[in-house]
Amino acid sequence: MFLKKIEIEAIRRCGADKTKIRFRTRPSTDISEILPYLNATYPDSIYYAKKPSLELKKDDAVILLESEAIVLNELSNTTQGIKFVDWVKDEINRVYKNKDQIEPDYTSKENLSVPELYKNLPQLNCGKCGEVTCLAFATKFVKGEYQLEDCSPLLTAKYKKVKKRLEDYI
Ligand code: SF4
Repeated sequence: MFLKKIEIEAIRRCGADKTKIRFRTRPSTDISEILPYLNATYPDSIYYAKKPSLELKKDDAVILLESEAIVLNELSNTTQGIKFVDWVKDEINRVYKNKDQIEPDYTSKENLSVPELYKNLPQLNCGKCGEVTCLAFATKFVKGEYQLEDCSPLLTAKYKKVKKRLEDYI
């Protein structure tokens, strides 16, 4: 078996939507080689080649896969999180097993850099995202730990254009 285990390291509340939770997990093996194959398997996924990572959507959850970390965001509850962790593990192993029949897709959509994102944030340091500063939010955002929606000021009319600009980047 390619991936034997995914260990749940932390369960936290999502920044903007406190009704949702986030799982931070660690795969027992480096999964970067399988990401282009998952990218080919899931047409709606987003692959980033620089720091190999892949963003996948399952139901309302957003799952970010990196070489040595898998973060599951926007989960409704712990039961769903555990179910989705099992699903991710099964999917990785299924795709790995069939990879000789899959043409890997290396099409990459590069992520925003921390300075680029920070420059475009409201810079209120209001803490509504769960971080004390916008810079801390930007740093964690590029690692896939946040969505734009976690910055609630960005959802207001005043920052509509800024949010659109950021959405076009990512
Ligand atoms: S403006 Fe947005 S990113 Fe900055 S601290 Fe407030 S919620 Fe977080």
